[in-house]
Amino acid sequence: MLKTLRAKILFYFLLVSLSGILIVSFSIQWGFEASFNHYLNEDRNERITQLIKALKLEYKENRTFTGERVTQLLYQQGTTDRLFYKIYTPDEILLIDSTSISEDPIPSDNEMRMNPYQDQEETWQTSSELIKVDGNTIGLLKVYYPKGFVDSESVFLQTIQKYIIIAVLITIVLALAFSMLFSKRLTSGLNSLSGAVEELTKHKQNVRVPLDNLSEEMKQLGVAFNELAMSLEKEERLRKEFTGDLAHELRTPLATLRSQIEAFQDGIWEPTPDRLQQSHSELMRLVRLVNELEKLLAAENPQIRLNKTELEADKMLSSIQQLQTPIFKEKGVSLIVHIPEEKIIFKGDFDKVTQILTNVVNNALKYTPEGGTVTISAIKDISMGGFRIKDEGIGIASQDLPHIFERFYRGDKSRARKTGGVGVGLSIVKALVEAHKGTITVESELDKGTTFTILFPLIEK
Ligand code: ADP
Repeated sequence: MLKTLRAKILFYFLLVSLSGILIVSFSIQWGFEASFNHYLNEDRNERITQLIKALKLEYKENRTFTGERVTQLLYQQGTTDRLFYKIYTPDEILLIDSTSISEDPIPSDNEMRMNPYQDQEETWQTSSELIKVDGNTIGLLKVYYPKGFVDSESVFLQTIQKYIIIAVLITIVLALAFSMLFSKRLTSGLNSLSGAVEELTKHKQNVRVPLDNLSEEMKQLGVAFNELAMSLEKEERLRKEFTGDLAHELRTPLATLRSQIEAFQDGIWEPTPDRLQQSHSELMRLVRLVNELEKLLAAENPQIRLNKTELEADKMLSSIQQLQTPIFKEKGVSLIVHIPEEKIIFKGDFDKVTQILTNVVNNALKYTPEGGTVTISAIKDISMGGFRIKDEGIGIASQDLPHIFERFYRGDKSRARKTGGVGVGLSIVKALVEAHKGTITVESELDKGTTFTILFPLIEK
């Protein structure tokens, strides 16, 4: 019972609306009956007063009650308002009696006194009024009227009740219809989300939740879910690509090595120093690949240990300049290093930051032809500071730019093989920068050059 959210919403919606309807209709019914009773009493009192006035006038004119002035009134009140009277002298001699015009028998005073709740078709009520003129009692008026409502009054009340019941029924039907619709709409978003989660657990990462028709809160959940599914899909794609790429990276040097060694064994090839050197370089390529993968694994490890100290950008730049100048000279590429005048200090692991800079600067050298220039400078904004490495190399195609930080991604595979790159360097750089809570961005134009910007959170001094 009431296990699903929809059933619960339906139940509570109905409960609330039905209690509201019942409270409102009962209070209307009771309030209406009470005020209608009040109105009838007032109306009756007014008619009695009207009769007393007429009686007093008659008494003043004739010093006795002849009934002339009031006959019409008595008849009218008896037939239309069901008000009947007995008028007595002060010593209780009956002078006028209009109870005889009642269609239903009115019990005598004695009968009423003996058994006021007798089982008659109609229960009668009575009240007495003294008629006074100038302080003297000139008569006694007894009024008889049926208890409850007279026919026309009950017809009126019944009509009102009928409308209240119709209104209640219509409201119940509407509440039922709306609550079903509302609960369906409210839970449909949840249902589609839980369906999508189920699909995701079955490794269907391409599942997405449609965001239209979702409420604001559900939309946020939907957006978060879609982003999660997207990143899982990307991870899955990268994992598959990584496995494929790794197999590919291993296959080529292994196949070359195998055929060379088999040729040596079969005596087809003489193991000359040159050929042995060739085999050795293939082997070294494998060793480099494994080393790079180890470095990547270490950099991507969430528990990476960083030996953080305060690093000064100018000192880092001088050290990089010292390290890199010989290999730049060797290739014939100029290295310009702008040492900043102001102090830019950030916290970082000296070895890891050196590794980051070396990788990016090595790439800049690798992809810049002889005669080109690589410029390294320090930069600073409000809360971040770091380095900018600008080269005048081959540049990166715009379709390659979003992928260059992915493992094994190489812009031009054939050229990269020649340059000795395995496509892991920038993945290591990115992982290390992120471990420092820094950012790395790249701008590039084909045949013009590439600029990498690496920033770390600053220490304010
Ligand atoms: P690789 O070992 O192939 O250099 P990286 O991860 O360091 O691997 O770089 C990935 C790819 O990004 C490279 O193959 C190259 O296509 C591109 N790339 C990186 N740096 C530069 C640069 N300075 N100029 C041009 N292309 C670059």
